Amino acid sequence: MQFHLNGYKPGDPKRLPADPRAMRASEGVADEVDVLIAGCGPAGLVLAAQLAAFPDIKTRIVERKSGPLELGQADGIACRTVEMFQAFGFAQRLLEEAYWVNETVFWRPDPDDRTKIVRSGRIQDTEDGLSEFPHVIVNQARVHDYLLEVMRESSTRLVPHYNRHVKNVVVGGAGDHPVLVTLQRTDPDGQGQEETVRARYVVGCDGARSSVRQSIGRALVGDVANQAWGVMDVLAVTDFPDIRLKSVIHSANEGNVLIIPREGGFLVRFYIELEKLNPDQHLTTKDVTTDALIAAANRIIHPYTLDVKDIAWWSVYEIGQRLCDRFDDVPQDAMNSRLPRVFIAGDACHTHSAKAGQGMNVSMQDTFNLGWKLAAVLQGKSAPEL
Ligand code: FAD
Repeated sequence: MQFHLNGYKPGDPKRLPADPRAMRASEGVADEVDVLIAGCGPAGLVLAAQLAAFPDIKTRIVERKSGPLELGQADGIACRTVEMFQAFGFAQRLLEEAYWVNETVFWRPDPDDRTKIVRSGRIQDTEDGLSEFPHVIVNQARVHDYLLEVMRESSTRLVPHYNRHVKNVVVGGAGDHPVLVTLQRTDPDGQGQEETVRARYVVGCDGARSSVRQSIGRALVGDVANQAWGVMDVLAVTDFPDIRLKSVIHSANEGNVLIIPREGGFLVRFYIELEKLNPDQHLTTKDVTTDALIAAANRIIHPYTLDVKDIAWWSVYEIGQRLCDRFDDVPQDAMNSRLPRVFIAGDACHTHSAKAGQGMNVSMQDTFNLGWKLAAVLQGKSAPEL
């Protein structure tokens, strides 16, 4: 029950009463919106969760896949990101289910026998004073679940519109909704059908291969070559003593492994560094087998062994460290004559090595920062040029 803000209300105080001003999900994507968000990754969902709090702002979020992520991808949640989750109201629940990365251990080749590894260091993971929250591990799919719940329970009852691929974004129409977005249906019933939406603002949270970025003529620059990683979430029997600690392991000649214990107490993630790729080269799960990854992990952790009993999820993650020169649609020579209408956020405008666990964290921080500013402009509380 709730005794404050809007008087006494029985029931769960987190589930706000639906506001009659908000667009209904049953209205579909709608022809005209204030903000159209492309992509239901962490960046898009943080923005949607934030804008869902404003019934007077018409927000839509579209995703080309058919439903929410269920497994895999990133899993490291930085302590400052947990602060953001506290603001959304789900930090405590997430902390309960998470693995807490309190320490990190390092393993190096044994100087007396370089075919073996030995522990070379053990450090506190997060420096004192950085945050009141810990650095934790929770699967990205669970983070999505929590953000979707915030949207659903908000006064706008915002839900994503799946099976919509953002094909193209054009800025320049007349009136208050100058951005024209072409969506293409990806579900069997509507396959290929096009829908158009006019928006005041579009935010491209559509990942490293962003169509929105391409539409506004921006490009990622930086590392020409990608680094490939084999990533496996496994249940395994092992005599490696630090299997329940974040472990950074460098072998003499067999490569490197990062071990991340996972939430729940049993699952463990292995990041196995594969080769640096040529600029046009791509590695996928078709080029690598889990047997090869398990064999590589065994060679790297020698003299210890890893007997994998089950693989919950695995992938080949190939990424370079790249950045866009600008994060909006305004060309350099028009910076004094017009204001942005399209923004890009997250992997759409910066990509990171898997090693530092930055991709998901920085992506969410981008849109947490953008959301309240968009809301202030759309509600007339701030001039767009500010
Ligand atoms: P994304 O999470 O990429 O989300 C973009 C969303 O937009 C996706 O749901 C996509 O389906 C959707 N989309 C794309 N194009 C369109 C379009 N045109 N129209 C509509 N929707 C569209 N990071 C790690 O730290 N460790 C890992 O092991 C790791 N593994 C990964 C494995 C894979 C397969 C991928 C794709 C990423 C992985 N990452 C990993 C990176 C991490 O997940 C990202 O850094 C983080 O999710 C970035 O968030 P984002 O919201 O910017 O983009």
